[in-house]
Amino acid sequence: MIYKHDQASIQGFLEDTSNLKTGHTPGVFFPETTGDLSELLKGTPNDYRRFTIAGNGTGTTGGRIPLGDYVISMQKLDRIGEPVALSSDKAIITVQAGALLGDIQTKVEQSGWFYPPDPTEKLCFIGSTIANNSSGARSFKYGPTRKHISRILVVLPQGDLLDLRRGACMADEHGMFHLSLPIAGSLAFQRPQYTMPETSKHNAGYFSEEGMDLIDLFIGSEGTLGVIAEADLMLIPLPMAIISCLVYFRNIDDLFRFIRLLKDPQNPVTPRAIEFFDQHSLGFLASKYPEVPSDSCGAIFLEQETTPESEEQDLDALFERMESCNAMTDESWMALDRDEQARLHEFRHALPLIVNDWLSRQQESKISTDMAVPEEAFRELFHFYRKSCEQHGFVYIIFGHIGNSHVHLNILPRNRVEFLLGKSLYREFIAKVLSLGGTLSAEHGIGKLKAEYLVEMYHDHGIQEMVRIKKCLDPFLVLNIGNLISAAYLVEKE
Ligand SMILES: Cc1cc2nc3c(=O)[nH]c(=O)nc-3n(C[C@H](O)[C@H](O)[C@H](O)COP(=O)(O)OP(=O)(O)OC[C@H]3O[C@@H](n4cnc5c(N)ncnc54)[C@H](O)[C@@H]3O)c2cc1C
Repeated sequence: MIYKHDQASIQGFLEDTSNLKTGHTPGVFFPETTGDLSELLKGTPNDYRRFTIAGNGTGTTGGRIPLGDYVISMQKLDRIGEPVALSSDKAIITVQAGALLGDIQTKVEQSGWFYPPDPTEKLCFIGSTIANNSSGARSFKYGPTRKHISRILVVLPQGDLLDLRRGACMADEHGMFHLSLPIAGSLAFQRPQYTMPETSKHNAGYFSEEGMDLIDLFIGSEGTLGVIAEADLMLIPLPMAIISCLVYFRNIDDLFRFIRLLKDPQNPVTPRAIEFFDQHSLGFLASKYPEVPSDSCGAIFLEQETTPESEEQDLDALFERMESCNAMTDESWMALDRDEQARLHEFRHALPLIVNDWLSRQQESKISTDMAVPEEAFRELFHFYRKSCEQHGFVYIIFGHIGNSHVHLNILPRNRVEFLLGKSLYREFIAKVLSLGGTLSAEHGIGKLKAEYLVEMYHDHGIQEMVRIKKCLDPFLVLNIGNLISAAYLVEKE
């Protein structure tokens, strides 16, 4: 197995997109087989090494940044199998953890299959998306990554291999799991004793649900319970055609009415994605796209799967709903072919680039939220975000997955004072979201950046539940320490 410890090789592993600057490591291991991974972890009780797992560094929470631990890079475990049809509408593909999501999507689409999870950033490794239960715009229809995983091969912290097929290891009536492993021996542990929030997206802390599947404990555990080495992904047939559009509104109540109509189960328009851009996001975009109407208060991007036969009918239904909600139909952007859809895709992805460019001139970091609330509480949160930012005179944008009542608020500080004020406001946002029954993270996870806030959501009892499971599966505390559960929590309560 390759091991590198020169500064040039290490440097890239001290970063992700979180702006956390305190990473350091003695060196990086590059396992080439699952056996390498297992051997590496088997030695840890004797040599007292700890490891941080590295995907491709697109994470936003500092999860892959080592704070003194060795790094395990997944980049050499990058094999992608062939799609295997199980029936006319179902297939699977086996992939190793270091395969790029974008490469997998391209490969399955070339064979007429579709892997729905799409966390915006295609340069991430598939193993990381499973470890983080990533989701994105299409999660409105398809749910997060966990819904599309039928098997994972996990290397546990003591080096055992656990091949977990969905449905093969379920919690019993007391919520207990039992494992018999060659190295760790017999393990018995209960699922976390807490209730998850009733949001349609949630990605903060270990998954727990009555009668749950053990595979779901590992998915979303952010590398704290094991290294995901391989997985079987569930595929469905590639949709024949897509309607994409960006619909502008002059009035925010009309925009919200449009979303309600789109989400109505009786509605013939059934989008797979419903995304939002507020007025300020559109303002940034207008610097590159002058066609953005200046009198719009916000826009909805939607994507709907269709067929050549039903496209016209689906478009009629969509226009009817746009008209009934006073949408700016003439200014709106319909993208019906691949080229136009690629242009619209580029438009959506231009927002973070334009904003990051603006921010780099202010030399401050943005403060961003990734919280979601139950649907009925969304407008209250939206109003709270806007009122708080307006009161402080902040430059800010609100955008994202409004179909799941999950938007990202980015405060863009112009100086240190605004940055510090924004940071303190972040705590108020957490309190508000939790009071509305929401979640601290709907998709990006907790990592190291948000571990200190997780206790506000789960309280001491909930964090202890996670510590209990962590210590059962990782008794020597060797894997991804500081992710999800604050390191102090693990040490203090030992
Ligand atoms: C522009 C942009 C847009 C984004 N949009 C979205 C979005 O819409 N939805 C979303 O969910 N995320 C989004 N993200 C976040 C990010 O892409 C995902 O979190 C992704 O899963 C990270 O993949 P990575 O390979 O870069 O992982 P890294 O950043 O390298 O690691 C992420 C975490 O996973 C752990 N990990 C990595 N591999 C494994 C493994 N094999 N086993 C166990 N643990 C492992 C690491 O230790 C770390 O904690 C976005 C990021 C960017 C930059």
